[in-house]
Amino acid sequence: AAASEGIVRREKGPRFADLGGMEAVIEELMMEVVVPLCHPELPQRLGVRPVAGLLLHGPPGCGKTTLAHAIANETGVPFYKISAPEVVSGVSGASEENIRGLFQKAYRTAPSIVFIDEIDAIASKRENLQREMERRIVTQLMTCMDQFHQNIGSSSSDLDAESAEKKPGYVIVIGATNRPDAVDQALRRPGRFDREISLGVPDENARKQILKMLTQNLRLEGEFDLFKIARATPGFVGADLKALVDKAGNLAMKRIIDERRAQYRRNHDGNSKHDWWRQPWDAS
Ligand code: ATP
Repeated sequence: AAASEGIVRREKGPRFADLGGMEAVIEELMMEVVVPLCHPELPQRLGVRPVAGLLLHGPPGCGKTTLAHAIANETGVPFYKISAPEVVSGVSGASEENIRGLFQKAYRTAPSIVFIDEIDAIASKRENLQREMERRIVTQLMTCMDQFHQNIGSSSSDLDAESAEKKPGYVIVIGATNRPDAVDQALRRPGRFDREISLGVPDENARKQILKMLTQNLRLEGEFDLFKIARATPGFVGADLKALVDKAGNLAMKRIIDERRAQYRRNHDGNSKHDWWRQPWDAS
């Protein structure tokens, strides 16, 4: 039971199919991350070193967090999340010990994923009051990530003798950032974050794909043209398009409610005292 602490399982969370305009990225991730996580014995047998750390960068709202969750859901492996700003500010007792403890759990339950959101928040190169603490955290993180190389070569994690499993102790660290340049250089070396994927602002075609995903469960008018909206929204990232779709859905709902209210009042001689909203109505 202790090993399951801190695991975020999202049975109904995002899958790759929920992400639009990312086909090429998903194809790469399938080869380099998803299959090695599901079958860690494959790279081991071939003597290939799998990706140790994956750095996802791109503007806010372009889908970094969603993509990390989707990788966890596609592989079904345990997912441990660290919020870098919380670690640095010491919120909820987060500290070097917490990082170490979390990685221990991750190695014990390997193959698994450690996700570090806003990883640029821990950068030892900055000159400020927190510098000392940040450097210690970066050092701790590097020590934890370097454990990977000892583990991946062996058939089990040596952090916990009880968990002598047959599968190699593959723990991949996924970092997300809006500011890749602010990420500590020591973390961006090969063997740590050795794979970087830039998500960027989606182009027109990608926006159309995202809109298609976001509206797949919505009832749209027959004439609805996603192309037109994709063309009219340059600069919009996934989160902006989601907000747009949500807004459109709410407007449609409001329009229907207004119509029903007017209809009810017409049928009841303009009497607005009745609780019209509780009356049964035809939901078609
Ligand atoms: P931040 O840097 O602010 O943390 P982020 O890059 O991690 O942002 P997410 O939180 O993953 O972005 O995305 C925000 C919302 O936008 C999510 O709810 C997601 O549903 C939607 N979204 C983003 N990109 C896509 C996409 N490519 N396809 C479908 N939905 C998307």
